[in-house]
Amino acid sequence: MSNREFWFVVGSQFLYGPEVLETVEQRAREMADKLSQVLPYPLVYKVTAKTNKEISDVVKEANYSDECCGIITWCHTFSPSKMWINGLVNLQKPYCHLATQYNKEIPNEDIDMDFMNLNQAAHGDREHGFIAARLRMPRKVIAGYWEDEKVHKRLSDWMKAAVGVAVSKQMKVMRFGDNMREVAVTEGDKVEVQIKLGWQVNTWAVGDLVKEMNAVTEEEIDALMKVYESEYDIATDNIAAIRYQAKEEIAMKKMMDREGCKAFSNTFQDLYGMEQLPGLASQHLMAQGYGYGGEGDWKVSAMTAILKAMGENGNGASAFMEDYTYHLVEGSEYSLGAHMLEVCPSVAADKPRIETHHLGIGMNEKDPARVVFEGKSGPGIVVSLIDMGGRLRLIVQDIEAVKPIMPMPNLPVARVMWRAMPDLTDGVECWITAGGAHHTVLSYDVTAEQMRDWARMMDIEFVHITKDTTPEKLEDELFLKDLALKLK
Ligand code: MN
Repeated sequence: MSNREFWFVVGSQFLYGPEVLETVEQRAREMADKLSQVLPYPLVYKVTAKTNKEISDVVKEANYSDECCGIITWCHTFSPSKMWINGLVNLQKPYCHLATQYNKEIPNEDIDMDFMNLNQAAHGDREHGFIAARLRMPRKVIAGYWEDEKVHKRLSDWMKAAVGVAVSKQMKVMRFGDNMREVAVTEGDKVEVQIKLGWQVNTWAVGDLVKEMNAVTEEEIDALMKVYESEYDIATDNIAAIRYQAKEEIAMKKMMDREGCKAFSNTFQDLYGMEQLPGLASQHLMAQGYGYGGEGDWKVSAMTAILKAMGENGNGASAFMEDYTYHLVEGSEYSLGAHMLEVCPSVAADKPRIETHHLGIGMNEKDPARVVFEGKSGPGIVVSLIDMGGRLRLIVQDIEAVKPIMPMPNLPVARVMWRAMPDLTDGVECWITAGGAHHTVLSYDVTAEQMRDWARMMDIEFVHITKDTTPEKLEDELFLKDLALKLK
């Protein structure tokens, strides 16, 4: 994680003479250094490119660099774009065009033709923009003064989305058991997601997990119990159930780390040899950045891991979520999201409590331990990736999470309450029209714009349900996209 970086590639040409080019390079270095202080990942100045070869070379280097998560281009001066073609057609990394200018103001007294020749990003960036449009390249355009906070925020967000691309391309998902019997929306083409998103989705036997669990030592469990005690309030006398969850967590973590997996799925229909569905175990793994999907939902599992990595400090407030039930009272219409057990504590408003309760679904011999909490309030999104047959569709809906309007003292699971945009009923109509799943990733710190960027970089369909969406407009949009994407 710590080695991730972005490259600053500045376009120019020989026309202006060595003095101007030196100034351009000096300023570009200064900008990269200053931006690196405020952006989440370093921005490394690479080249002031003046030839086809320089551009092709830096693109080749970027493609093969594990550290480079994307390039940011800018044209301080004019850079004829035909010399970018051979490089750009081979670019395999995320690409952002920063349309900016070294100086903030037009210097009234000092402006002359020398100044104009040096500071001509206004037309240099247009020439640069044309060729990316002509090449139909997926790219992000960010315009604004490079020292403005707003530009920093947008560059930061884009960088995190690009890191989401890097994480996706290395994603390995460990499946314990298959998808829940007969469920459609959790299914999908694993070959297609590997081609499009890079995911390696494979299965491991539950029997192997049980074997791994049996090899976990009491000392290992003691150590993890100390972590649980420091992070959560223990609100049960059933310590044996918590220790059993610790054993499950340790075993799953060992298997995932051995295989390089950052996400996993399981199903209550296949717990052969296990006493409890992993609850606390899955929740604490999610808190450490692993993705999870219930009922064998490997798509939501991988997406959870990716959104977490895109969030604050590489492990943000994003959680596997399920739409459970509605409050349909006029004027206070809310969705209640939860899961059987597995909601990530990264979205908790307060310190979570470990509780044990009976779980009727699945083959639980014993009452599974889980952490219980209320989700925090604030704006967020819910995200669903579905397989449309022949292509993937990413659906994002804006939401406003609230403090749950009632205590629900007998609900034995973590819960989040929210208001869907544009409102509950239109929001549900839009979501269902688009085919969104009951499983989602709910995020407080990844934005819809970042998911749009991610979907563009991944070359998949993106659908955004906002405060301005109507079911009618959405239906037309989906129809047109369906036509367009069939032609593509
Ligand atoms: Mn579920």
